[in-house]
Amino acid sequence: MPYRTIIEPFRIHSVQGISFPTTEEREAALVRAGYNLFGLHADEVIIDLLTDSGTGSMSAEQWAAMMVGDESYAGSRSFYRFADAVTKLTGLPEVIPVHQGRAAEWILFSSVAGPGKVIPNNTHFDTTRANVEFQGAEARDMVIAEGRDPAADHPFKGNMDVTALRATIAEVGVGNIPLVMITVTNNSGGGQPVSLANLREVRAVCDEHGLPFFMDAARFAENAWFIKLREPGQAERTPRQIAREMFSLVDGVTFSAKKDAIANIGGFLAMKDPALAAQCRNLLILTEGFPTYGGLAGRDLEAIATGLDEVLEEGYLRYRIRSTEYLGEKCRDAGVPIVWPPGGHAVYIDAKAMLPHIPPARYPAQALAVELYREGGVRGVEIGSVMFGKPGDDGTETPAAMELVRLAVPRRTYTQSHIDYVGEVVVAVAKKAPSLRGYRITESAPWLRHFTARFEPI
Ligand SMILES: *Cc1c(COP(=O)(O)O)cnc(C)c1O
Repeated sequence: MPYRTIIEPFRIHSVQGISFPTTEEREAALVRAGYNLFGLHADEVIIDLLTDSGTGSMSAEQWAAMMVGDESYAGSRSFYRFADAVTKLTGLPEVIPVHQGRAAEWILFSSVAGPGKVIPNNTHFDTTRANVEFQGAEARDMVIAEGRDPAADHPFKGNMDVTALRATIAEVGVGNIPLVMITVTNNSGGGQPVSLANLREVRAVCDEHGLPFFMDAARFAENAWFIKLREPGQAERTPRQIAREMFSLVDGVTFSAKKDAIANIGGFLAMKDPALAAQCRNLLILTEGFPTYGGLAGRDLEAIATGLDEVLEEGYLRYRIRSTEYLGEKCRDAGVPIVWPPGGHAVYIDAKAMLPHIPPARYPAQALAVELYREGGVRGVEIGSVMFGKPGDDGTETPAAMELVRLAVPRRTYTQSHIDYVGEVVVAVAKKAPSLRGYRITESAPWLRHFTARFEPI
């Protein structure tokens, strides 16, 4: 089409109203929630960019598929449709449904990890890291150097540093590495993609050492689209062909269907190894349910099977990646420092650069996230030292590598005017950045503390 504007490739079929809390109501909500945006009631939020997880709008086809869901306990028709869809896409024969991605992680790492083990990853997502550490193993991040520098422009900032991977294997020994993992796109590192070339390189290293290679594939379709746009020789291939090649390079996958299956719940664990799958299914029965539903209703399996197909449509992916980039450009054009280029599902504001007067121990990204809500009712999420700081025994903390606020864009949910509004709020907060103050934590849990911690302003 000769036109510049990439329009939303859907029309709206049913709508949900947005509430508009006043400034006073927002302030009261912040105090009640202990300045933790996870503690807000969703009705206190105007534009909710907390996460793109489970917040997408399902299509009429997905809703229709739900109506024919088979709720049989064992051997449901919906399970076989789901498992076929997963195997057709990934080539992996063993398909284990779970209620969310983290259940796949728990089952996988309960089966293979333990004290003394090390799991390499480009960057572990927070639930992945927590599940590895819960087993007493070490979650080791080794994204390329550009991936840790918010301002460094690179087409595949999610790539794994293969030299660091080799060094880790030499250091800890093959016997202590149950598997190598890679996260596409690299959520905790800015939603940045991983190239096919990098996946092939990691595969080669794994083959040299006989190591299994697993992919956290939550955003496989977005990653495939970036490969089509940016990787030499890939422009003419379909996202489906590219996705198939990505999956062909790994031995197993953990997947949150709340992302690139555009479903509201669900996930799966899929793999080649039947012996490991049998071990995983035993844990599945203990915690999730029978292997043909895994904690999901038959109708959820249907929504996921349909979503896995829709998410690879070119029109959808073009709109999806462009709408995130559009918000990123609005921020950048206003001089707001963001991780560049923008990720697939989110724009990450660099709070360290925006609020240099707030030290990491005073949580600059938390301060920024709170202010975006206070200013315009926009809810993002801190991805910095609240999420990834390591509290020591002496009361001090090792800060995270980056202090980011993630503005995640739900799939097919908001329109361009919503995003224009968010851009205006970000710019308004940037103007008063020097007046923002840090926070201290007054209460926190031993792991995944960002979900429930309480704060007070300094
Ligand atoms: C969301 C996510 C997970 C965890 O999935 P849940 O469905 O939220 O449990 C794991 N890895 C990545 C990269 C994710 O984005």
